[in-house]
Amino acid sequence: MAHVHKLYEYDYNTGTIKLKNKKCSRCGSIMAHHLKPVERWACGKCGYTEFIETREKRK
Ligand SMILES: [Zn+2]
Repeated sequence: MAHVHKLYEYDYNTGTIKLKNKKCSRCGSIMAHHLKPVERWACGKCGYTEFIETREKRK
């Protein structure tokens, strides 16, 4: 596994770099990405949580 950056994710298939962390829609802080127990974005400042619906499983 390659971990070049913490905030960016390099897609080898398309050759693009995408921002891994996004900003909170409520307070504008960088949100943390959580995979367990469910995939979601959580803001550590205001506690805003955005759940991500994923139907495809990567393994
Ligand atoms: Zn927030």
